Amino acid sequence: MNTTPATTQERIFNFSAGPAVLPLEVLQQAQQEMLNWQGTGMSVMEISHRSDAFLAIVKQTSDDCRELLGVPSNYQILFLPGGGTLQFSMVPMNLLAKNPQADYVQTGFWSQKAIAEAQRYGDIHIASTTKKVLDLATIPDQSSWQLRSNAAYVHYVHNETIDGITFPWVPDCGKVPLVADMSSCIFSAPIDVSQFGLIYAGAQKNMGPAGITLVIIRDDLVTTPMPMTPTMLTYQDHVKAQSLLNTPPTYSWYMVGLVLQWLKRKGGLVDIQRDNVAKAKKLYDYIDSEAFYRNPVAPAYRSLMNVPFTLAHTSLDECFLSEASMRGLENLAGHRSIGGMRASIYNAMPLAGVETLIEFMADFVKRKG
Ligand code: PMP
Repeated sequence: MNTTPATTQERIFNFSAGPAVLPLEVLQQAQQEMLNWQGTGMSVMEISHRSDAFLAIVKQTSDDCRELLGVPSNYQILFLPGGGTLQFSMVPMNLLAKNPQADYVQTGFWSQKAIAEAQRYGDIHIASTTKKVLDLATIPDQSSWQLRSNAAYVHYVHNETIDGITFPWVPDCGKVPLVADMSSCIFSAPIDVSQFGLIYAGAQKNMGPAGITLVIIRDDLVTTPMPMTPTMLTYQDHVKAQSLLNTPPTYSWYMVGLVLQWLKRKGGLVDIQRDNVAKAKKLYDYIDSEAFYRNPVAPAYRSLMNVPFTLAHTSLDECFLSEASMRGLENLAGHRSIGGMRASIYNAMPLAGVETLIEFMADFVKRKG
């Protein structure tokens, strides 16, 4: 058995959309603490979720989340199972109990999934859809949306992970609560939580490993759900039990805690946003400068986190991916639904990863373009 610890040299640049790259420092800390977590003589995976030691993680993670995002005191922070996908059902099951109408904005793959699920529970109206302008995807200005003033909520996906399209603004829906899927952009930049009724995000992009989902919900939305809603899908019950209705994914929770502490050491979300803008700008500037590559999104709506691009000839895709892999640039294939390439450059992707990718892309064009 090889017991040599993994070195940084053995690590590749992982552009996966999720589960995604985690900060090296966090992985090293987890590695060090694996066998004996804080002098307990046990791994954190082996301790009871009801123990004081684990409850300390629960409290710290919630406190750090509140601090980093500036979550006001009239919002609850929950850590739930089921990923972003379960929120596609939990949101309507809980928020449509009294009023079955909800408006959805359709901007790509994940908002479509959310719409399809919500349609099982209520009267779902599509208020707006992404439009192509000069063959580039854009989000229509909010003045053109058809919002219903009596809807129970408006749902949108702040960053479409597959399509690489993001909102440069937060929709203003007046008194109607705004529900945001922030799975692929949470903690990438500061947000004003008070603009939202509910925010949800799966952990496996910017927060930690898969298995745990952050939900931030305003107190007035924690109400009785539709009849027959299972306890495990009821926000009210999760709030009462402080996310400990059953045995949670304790290791994922611990890892999220380590990532949030890493974010605080990095200086918080203003600093992380500055780094993310710099990384994304480098990559988009390069793509725009080279006719061989193309990003399908209008500049104002381009994602800071997920950069899809195509090559001039799809026949070169496989060669691009295998050569990239030989250079230690992994998981660049676009989502199976749209093909092409996609570089996900979450918080934990170092600038060196983006620079190495650009060098490779430039070299590839020289040889194959
Ligand atoms: N919403 C968005 C924006 C996503 O990117 C994803 C996953 N890639 C999901 C929802 C679904 O998340 P999960 O796989 O955690 O259910």
